[in-house]
Amino acid sequence: MRSKSVTLLKGVGPKKAQSLEKLGIRTLEDLVRTYPRSYEDRRSPKAVSSLTDGEKALVRARVLLVTKGRGFGRNRTLRILAEDSSGRLEVLFFHAAYLDKAFRSGNEYFFFGKVKNENGRITMFQPDFGGGADGAEGILPVYSLSKGVSQKDMRSYMAQALELLKDQPEPLPASVIEKRGLAPLSRALGSIHFPENESAYKIARYRLIYEEFFCLRSALLLSKDRFGQGREGRSVVSGGSVRFVSALPYELTSAQKRCLDEILKDMAGTRAMNRLLQGDVGSGKTAVAAAALAEAAGAGLQAAFMAPTEILARQHFENLSRWFGPLGIRTDILIGSLTASERKKALERIASGETDVVVGTHAVISEGVVFHDLALVITDEQHRFGVNQRKKLNQKGENPDVLVMTATPIPRTLAVVLYGDLDVSVIDELPPGRIPIKTLSYTEQSRREAYRLMLDELKKGRQAYIVAPYIEDPDSREGRSAEGLYAEFRKEHPDISCGLVHGLLKQSEKDEVMEAFKRGDISVLIATVVIEVGIDVPNASVMIIEDSERFGLAQLHQLRGRVGRGGYLSYCLLILGEAQEIARQRAEILCGSSDGFYIAEKDLDMRGPGELFGFRQHGLPQLSLADPARHLEVARRAGEDAAELLAADPGLEKPEDKAFGKLLREKFTGADVLTL
Ligand code: ADP
Ligand code: MG
Repeated sequence: MRSKSVTLLKGVGPKKAQSLEKLGIRTLEDLVRTYPRSYEDRRSPKAVSSLTDGEKALVRARVLLVTKGRGFGRNRTLRILAEDSSGRLEVLFFHAAYLDKAFRSGNEYFFFGKVKNENGRITMFQPDFGGGADGAEGILPVYSLSKGVSQKDMRSYMAQALELLKDQPEPLPASVIEKRGLAPLSRALGSIHFPENESAYKIARYRLIYEEFFCLRSALLLSKDRFGQGREGRSVVSGGSVRFVSALPYELTSAQKRCLDEILKDMAGTRAMNRLLQGDVGSGKTAVAAAALAEAAGAGLQAAFMAPTEILARQHFENLSRWFGPLGIRTDILIGSLTASERKKALERIASGETDVVVGTHAVISEGVVFHDLALVITDEQHRFGVNQRKKLNQKGENPDVLVMTATPIPRTLAVVLYGDLDVSVIDELPPGRIPIKTLSYTEQSRREAYRLMLDELKKGRQAYIVAPYIEDPDSREGRSAEGLYAEFRKEHPDISCGLVHGLLKQSEKDEVMEAFKRGDISVLIATVVIEVGIDVPNASVMIIEDSERFGLAQLHQLRGRVGRGGYLSYCLLILGEAQEIARQRAEILCGSSDGFYIAEKDLDMRGPGELFGFRQHGLPQLSLADPARHLEVARRAGEDAAELLAADPGLEKPEDKAFGKLLREKFTGADVLTL
């Protein structure tokens, strides 16, 4: 039944199949799960005189006159004058003089297309058309297309595929369908593509949204059972964290204390910890992580701390060795740039148990690293790690406790859906005494002022970041790519040392420039978003973000977190390249708030369901119709039902649940979700 290739469809040969593949569509099942981007309402024609500029509309009009424009043969423009009882309309077809045979003066036709209304002079360009009753085709789907596949193709393929699949079995358990009054799958799919009316559409949509949440929640629950809390672990209690905390030069904030307590409780329990520690940039996650590391070390066990880049690993290593040295906790670093002999010695110390805490990049989980007794694994900025890497590390010990940290605030609405009852700790408070970052927005015209402010700060001995959305200029607008800005800056300020980092550089090259910036050898760092994560340079007090409308809200907030880390008043200067309304709104939110969670919520609000914040970063499969911000109630119900189902049939082995188990496996095989 499953996996019928799209080549079964009439009109789909190898070429069309290739174009469909670009849309991620290989099978008929893929096809029918590719939902419309929008719809065209072609049910009832509108009065010509009511048409507004820019709208797409259906009209029914009598053709008065058909004329061909100047030029030769088929390429000429066809111009049609038509009218309905309300007014007149001009219809233009370009390069399509041959269409003249399709129209006869005096007959009525449907036209569907984009309208231009210039002071009451109404024109429709290149419309779809039909005679008789042909034009009013109901509500038609509009799909995202790739080169080589037209809207018409998609509609035809979809209609065929729906027919071919109309007998596919219902994957959701009958109990759930009944309890929630859901439309059966084949009917829901039929109506989402070709809705008969609004209410059929809504019923279909509800079913499909429910299904997405139900699948996601079930997969999360299953994975938690298999890899998470269900894992046997061991109890780790030593008092090491208490000694560490009392040696810190500052007192933990109450949020840090609460999170640390939650972590220590997990470690003390006999189940393996599987916890996410969330905290805004600068909230002090490192100290909490370090306390957990100290707790493991205090028990004579080993702990590992992984960061996504060498420079961050080194930064953590420096901090931890400084803290841990006096406490007798031995720390080692494992990074790619160690010499062979350094690496060999470190590996020996790790294997013998002489090392308590290993800090590093993914080199920590490379082949050949053997731990004596690994009890705790912490990853910083977890979304930068691939799943396999995390899994590998987990295998280095006997079900070690796992703590992942992220500075990407996950909005509460989203957290409910993603984690449900999974363990999450949130540091929702910044250490005291921070001077809030001043965020200001500029336009193309006032751009110079931002740079003047930056130059003033440089004169005071501070450093600055300039961030651009692109590495090279994609549309030759000089100077707004990292490379363009770098060239421009060097020309205008030959006396100021500046560096360039972007994603096309090798890791070692990036690290070199960042190190130079950290040492203060470079005053201005021009970069793409590669600097987003973790880099800590307290002396940097200005960040200019060029073409800031090209970044998402949450991303801008992350970027901003790179400044304001010293005792100086710091600035985040947003330059709006194109001052679109949405960009202005974003800038306003950012200028008015420094609360990462609030910003993440807003980000979620402002985006469409297609590009949900957090999902990609957290490696979860994309939801297509479901939007946690808008469908929270559906998400709750689906979550409840999923929990109930899995409690009754944990392996999804009952005959009535088998189809659902199969759907889950197909949907989530290889996805992060099963190892979270
Ligand atoms: P992040 O959560 O972004 O990783 P860090 O752990 O790097 O934050 O902490 C940011 C800065 O705040 C560091 O310089 C750290 O020493 C400092 N810090 C952390 N906790 C406290 C605290 N309770 N009181 C004062 N300063 C703190
Ligand atoms: Mg950090």
